[in-house]
Amino acid sequence: MDDFSLLIDLHHRQPRQGPGGDRETALALALSGLKGRTGLKIADIGCGTGAATLVLATALDATITAVDLFPAFLGTLDARAGEVGLSDKIQTLSASMEALPFEEGSLDAIWSEGAIYNLGFAKGAALWRPLLKSGGVLAVSELTWLTKDRPDELTEHWHKVYPEVDTASAKLHVLEAAGYEPLGYFPLPERCWLENYYDPIEAGFEAFLARHHHSDAARALVDAEQREISLYRRYSDYVSYGFYIARRL
Ligand code: SAH
Repeated sequence: MDDFSLLIDLHHRQPRQGPGGDRETALALALSGLKGRTGLKIADIGCGTGAATLVLATALDATITAVDLFPAFLGTLDARAGEVGLSDKIQTLSASMEALPFEEGSLDAIWSEGAIYNLGFAKGAALWRPLLKSGGVLAVSELTWLTKDRPDELTEHWHKVYPEVDTASAKLHVLEAAGYEPLGYFPLPERCWLENYYDPIEAGFEAFLARHHHSDAARALVDAEQREISLYRRYSDYVSYGFYIARRL
């Protein structure tokens, strides 16, 4: 099994593949101005198994194209959508977020929770903007410093793993420079990382290792996840995902 297959096997059984929460998706929706509008066309980019997709499909009169690189995640989303009677509003698509097959000016909203980092925040905001209608909404969550100063260990880790990590004011500036009007920002509370994301992953470690006969690669993946979880538990006052909601100008 290659590293991607292991990563997918560890994550696709979880309720979500990144920090977040249904309540926070709903809060971002409230800030977006999309509610109450009809016939919306929305893309959920890097949707994983669709935690946010399902909230959007429940709350909005919309057709949602849920995009992810990995068909295994999309298969789970299709099954979940079927179970809750939302299949007619959700279409899944395996594609790269770097080369999305949408027509220019065709989308009312681009939603992307915990995924834009794969492109980089500035690059993603610039690349996706032409796909939005004028006035269309970009709603993304992105790793964000919550404080001006922070422990060196934390700064060093995230600068190595994701050099674009920055404060909310810097992220809002990036959005403005890319041709968006910010509509809202809020940081995800700790619950979105621990209860909704890390706790379920941790609960699955033993079964994951057993499925892979405690291979070196499986062990290494668990170790890496545990290091990240431990870092977050120690330093959750300093870093989170910020949810950014903006309008294409
Ligand atoms: N939005 C989901 C998943 C976040 S994890 C949630 O909040 O639960 C990030 C997702 O981005 C993963 O599902 C991963 O498969 C997907 N991804 C990573 N690189 C990608 C790329 N280049 N194009 C499309 N999706 C990608």
